Amino acid sequence: MALESNSNKTTTTLTTLLFKLLDDAPLRPCTRDKSNTIALTDAEDRRSTPFAVADGGALITSGLYKMIKSSRDQPQQMDNSFWRSCAPPRIQFFAGLVLHGRLQCKTNLFKKKIVDNVTCEVCGGAPETTEHLLFFCPFSATVWQRLGVQLGEDVTARDLLHLQRPESLPPAHFDTFVLLCCWQLWKRRNGFVFRQESMSLLQFMQNCKLDARAWSCRLPRRDMSVSDLWCSAFSLAM
Ligand SMILES: [Zn+2]
Repeated sequence: MALESNSNKTTTTLTTLLFKLLDDAPLRPCTRDKSNTIALTDAEDRRSTPFAVADGGALITSGLYKMIKSSRDQPQQMDNSFWRSCAPPRIQFFAGLVLHGRLQCKTNLFKKKIVDNVTCEVCGGAPETTEHLLFFCPFSATVWQRLGVQLGEDVTARDLLHLQRPESLPPAHFDTFVLLCCWQLWKRRNGFVFRQESMSLLQFMQNCKLDARAWSCRLPRRDMSVSDLWCSAFSLAM
């Protein structure tokens, strides 16, 4: 038992460390001299990570993913239950960023001096925190309201997998349903910010339905009909 406990502590530390390393990857090119002092250069800015093959090399994500995933059964010092959802691995990783406060919303980018303001570019009416982006930005709030998911005023990103389920949605895999919606909200936000795409509520719900159908094969065979109920909910919310 002691060994298991120590192992769990180790994986907790690893998970936290890995998210932090990814988050703190340096932006500005630098070199180390013989005294191991970091010196800035005039080269063009680029992001790098200690997990790259070599300086400037590609990030090796497979090892990272395996190490982080090894924490899936640890106690809940951190909420890592997203690993048990039926969402695809990259969406599970997205959930990890949300729950660990590492999503690259503008307030987090501002802290790292990557952007010069925190205003939400979608609505222009509030700082873009993770909570604003996923829950309170007017479009996001409308999505949850149309789906019948009630959000408290004090809901936080850490509540992501504990939102109150409406009776109209099946209890099985509700965490996966929530991740699907959040992933689509994040994609819509990125489409707006980076490609000036304005997606209507109808288009959004149609995209959610496409994901629901695509993810159905990830559900246990006995629960595959759950995705049909999700599609019905998205149709009703259009
Ligand atoms: Zn907004």
